[in-house]
Amino acid sequence: MPGPLALTFRVSATQLGQLPDSPAEIAFVGRSNVGKSSLINALANRRQLARVSNTPGRTQLINLFTLPSGATVVDLPGYGYAKAPGNVRASWRAMIEGYLLDREPLAMVYVLVDGEIGPTPLDVQMLDWMRANELPHTVVATKWDKVKSSRRDTRRRELAAKCQLEPGDIVYVSAAKNTNLDQLRGLIDLHLTV
Ligand code: GDP
Repeated sequence: MPGPLALTFRVSATQLGQLPDSPAEIAFVGRSNVGKSSLINALANRRQLARVSNTPGRTQLINLFTLPSGATVVDLPGYGYAKAPGNVRASWRAMIEGYLLDREPLAMVYVLVDGEIGPTPLDVQMLDWMRANELPHTVVATKWDKVKSSRRDTRRRELAAKCQLEPGDIVYVSAAKNTNLDQLRGLIDLHLTV
């Protein structure tokens, strides 16, 4: 069983060039409020490693964490904040796309979608873009505790179909209830093995 991820915060960057070299990296991406900070905190078993915020869209930074092996974990700023002005959205897009296309050590991108209500049209756009650019990615459905157990099978199929995946391709997690975090940690270990 993999233990909590021993993440240490290293740097916040606004540009790709500000990121340190890394032997292997994974990244988390998702729309604002999808539960990304909560998930990173839960994976590390820490309360405040990544900020959990109820005012989404504030942070427009690439946050990078290191593991004892030297491998790195990147928290990308959330997309799709409705109130963000057009120019903020455009600069987000340029920064994220630049990172995803050009970051050499990037081994896997975890695309977070809301397990209860996702994927949103923006999530689907993101997945289409990842596929078009042949970027390795894994869909993680968050807040799985919010889906009643009697609805989970239906929801799995619905979510997977909208993501053009099989239900078994998606990892269903709850940061609140620690559901399937070891499964995700196992995948992360695998992707970061250098
Ligand atoms: P971020 O904007 O993607 O970083 O999302 P946050 O981690 O800040 O979470 C957004 C909201 O969803 C907060 O109110 C969290 O408490 C809530 N949330 C996050 N993860 C879970 C979860 O696993 N279950 C439930 N029920 N709520 C969650």
